[in-house]
Amino acid sequence: MEKRLIGFLPGSFDPLTLGHVDIVTRATAFCVKLYVGIAQNPSKQGQLFTPQERVGLILQSLPGMSGLEIISFEGLAVDTAASLGANCIFRGIRSASDAEYEFRMAVANRKVSGIDTLFLMADERYGHISSSLIRQLGRGGKDLTAFVPAVIESQVRERLSHLR
Ligand code: ADP
Repeated sequence: MEKRLIGFLPGSFDPLTLGHVDIVTRATAFCVKLYVGIAQNPSKQGQLFTPQERVGLILQSLPGMSGLEIISFEGLAVDTAASLGANCIFRGIRSASDAEYEFRMAVANRKVSGIDTLFLMADERYGHISSSLIRQLGRGGKDLTAFVPAVIESQVRERLSHLR
């Protein structure tokens, strides 16, 4: 397949999960360049890692993937996509409730910027995984190896070690 897109995949990634790894990997198959954007949202409660830490963790988890760049951004994802010269936004869909929210966002984003959103359906192995689930299980001291890359598992454990 000829790679033609410059993609932008925004999200919180707090932390990166195997579901994220799957959609990032699949999105890169369409892109000459894929930007993964970590949304900076200081008012969000219960964050595990700072946006800068998340950038570092993603780089460690996805080493040597060609055409991939990890950035953090403030403000609207669609503005960041436009300023990077992206011609599409990628999002993953895990459930009907994801789809309902994403549909509205995608329509609005295309109206204000002309940039289309492409959706990747979650792989059946990972559709149940979310970062909030990982934070919950981590705080409960559970084994996370089935849900996140190994490097993330050890960093989450270390970050939450004071809870035990
Ligand atoms: P946001 O708060 O913007 O949804 P997330 O970090 O939760 O940020 O998700 C970033 C993107 O990754 C979203 O498009 C989301 O649907 C997708 N995603 C999250 N978890 C999974 C998963 N398990 N499988 C596929 N896509 C996922």
